[in-house]
Amino acid sequence: MTQATSNGGLSRTQLRCVVCDASRAPDLGAACHICGGTLAAQVEAPVLPEGRAAFYDYAEALPVGDVRITLGEGGTPLIPLDRMFPDGGVYVKAEWMNASGSFKDRGAAVAVSAARALGAKGVVCASTGNNAASVSAYAARAGLPCIVALAKGTPPGKLVHSKANGAIVVEVDGTFSDAFRMAETIAAEHSDWVNLTSTYLSPYMTAAHATIMWELQAELGEVGSVMIPIGAGPMLDGIVAGAEVLLAQGRIARMPVPVGVQGAGCAPIARAFDEGADTVDEWSDAVTGMPGSINDPLRGYASDGTRTLKRIRGADGHAVAVTDDEIRSAMLDLGRLEGITAEPAAIAALAAYRKLEDKLPKPAVLILSGHILKDVPAQAAGELESIAVSPDLATDEIIARALDAFNG
Ligand SMILES: [Zn+2]
Repeated sequence: MTQATSNGGLSRTQLRCVVCDASRAPDLGAACHICGGTLAAQVEAPVLPEGRAAFYDYAEALPVGDVRITLGEGGTPLIPLDRMFPDGGVYVKAEWMNASGSFKDRGAAVAVSAARALGAKGVVCASTGNNAASVSAYAARAGLPCIVALAKGTPPGKLVHSKANGAIVVEVDGTFSDAFRMAETIAAEHSDWVNLTSTYLSPYMTAAHATIMWELQAELGEVGSVMIPIGAGPMLDGIVAGAEVLLAQGRIARMPVPVGVQGAGCAPIARAFDEGADTVDEWSDAVTGMPGSINDPLRGYASDGTRTLKRIRGADGHAVAVTDDEIRSAMLDLGRLEGITAEPAAIAALAAYRKLEDKLPKPAVLILSGHILKDVPAQAAGELESIAVSPDLATDEIIARALDAFNG
């Protein structure tokens, strides 16, 4: 397409409500105009490239139009874990290798591209973590102002990415929920600003995660199961939607089993799954545990969790909670045996696979969602003992002690 159109070249995209099925042409809104439900961005007659492809080679199957903002996202390595699993068939998808260090770049690329194509004047998000880092980067790249709303007293280390990307950081005198509502209000009262707070508020962002599934299929053919760290769960939704496209086009013969992974200290979706419930309740207990970037209690938007639960059940998947001890042990083994590190929320995918391994078909893929330096695992690092030596200790002795530790 060479000429910009009134809908930015998004003419094959429809926004469809996942609750009441109402649909409309693409716009910057975050919810259904009839019932307020969350939206899915669906592309009519999606065309997928043959074989391995770069991110925007999937454009004919994504809700993007004339504008394609990029920082080289997607195309992340698929690495076999042959030392940990000598029988083979277990892989990690290295999502930490995206430009801002997490899988969020796929969603931000598509959502910011669509926002600019649809005439947005700016983007806003409430986040302190991976999403703010990613959205602020793509907004800068698109030449759009970006407001990051967060609770007053957020540690400065959490703001480095956003501030360096030129985002306007607004510290709300209240909790994160107040910041969340402020982002919502800004977009509601200024319809040319788009709210890219994570969760299901951006159907473009959610849809972009299908590219993970398409890349897996291009490399592996059939995919047996996928371990996906989830807060509210839009990455899981996008991956299952991507698998549905592959199934409809006859590129795979069966749906992969999706496994939604949460930390035991904040596991509203896994709890609902275990209880056999049809809906997810918000997590009213204290939020605790290592995997900070998936600790989402869903307060005020538990229906997002219900959307993910339905996706999991619809694909005969599982939801599982893993403990800090299981994450810590998985982290140490993955680093020691494979030379691979990631943030605790990502490592939770490996901890979950170890629990469910016997039930899951191969090839099995663990989505390692973010870089280890995104969320420095102080609790794990505390266990990694150094060897104290004096400056004049004989080198033979240093090597002997190092080998003792290695062979542990
Ligand atoms: Zn609706």
